[in-house]
Amino acid sequence: MSRTPLVAGNWKMNGRRSMAASLAAEIAAAAPAGVEVLLCPPLVYLDTVASAVQASDVVLGAQNLDEHEDGAFTGEVSAEMLVDVACRYVLVGHSERRTLFAESSARVADKFFRALDAGLRPVLCVGETLAEREAGNTEQVINAQLDAVFGRATAEQMVDTVIAYEPVWAIGTGMTASPEQAQAVHAHIRSRLASSFGAPLAQSLRLLYGGSVKADNAASLFAGADIDGGLVGGASLDAATFLAICQAATA
Ligand code: PEP
Repeated sequence: MSRTPLVAGNWKMNGRRSMAASLAAEIAAAAPAGVEVLLCPPLVYLDTVASAVQASDVVLGAQNLDEHEDGAFTGEVSAEMLVDVACRYVLVGHSERRTLFAESSARVADKFFRALDAGLRPVLCVGETLAEREAGNTEQVINAQLDAVFGRATAEQMVDTVIAYEPVWAIGTGMTASPEQAQAVHAHIRSRLASSFGAPLAQSLRLLYGGSVKADNAASLFAGADIDGGLVGGASLDAATFLAICQAATA
């Protein structure tokens, strides 16, 4: 089955309004055909980026959301608010949220379903630490992170979702999983999807690789049969580099 590749830029907590506007405009002006391009800027610049990409096919996402509906949750942002500012996607369970903000897999799952209920497409991030990999526990860790969501989901709910495999040891470190390591985990995730929801759904979902994707390693990573694009942090802050990564996903 052919899956339209997806390349997402996670800007994390970087930039200012003028940078957000110009970076988004440069990407929108030159985004290649044949790949869905998603930008996830800081929350306060979602409107700025929405305006910059409005006339293009580039889509907007958020880096996080709260699992509750509107209410007394000071400092948080709801799924409905994200929809209101033109978001189509939202990251859930990024390793920085899991580790720095102590988000459990159960809470990540609550956010995943809240996003779906509001009409957002969640990008569920999973990945193991270096210690977990070296102990031979990669699949076990990924399974637990997936099962927190899969155990509560129907195949119908999974249709509009994306899963990103991001080995924690490769995020922001310059250490990238080899294409073989990345493909092996992606194949595992797809087989877990197949056993939980059936082969057709598993074949239709996009699985992204994240972790120090750069212009010079993107093509070899994206060549993996089960790798349908990337979730890009640092390299998404430069338009030319990010566009080269998007281009690599179209090959
Ligand atoms: C990320 O933050 O999701 C990420 C993959 O970061 P980087 O590309 O900088 O490793």
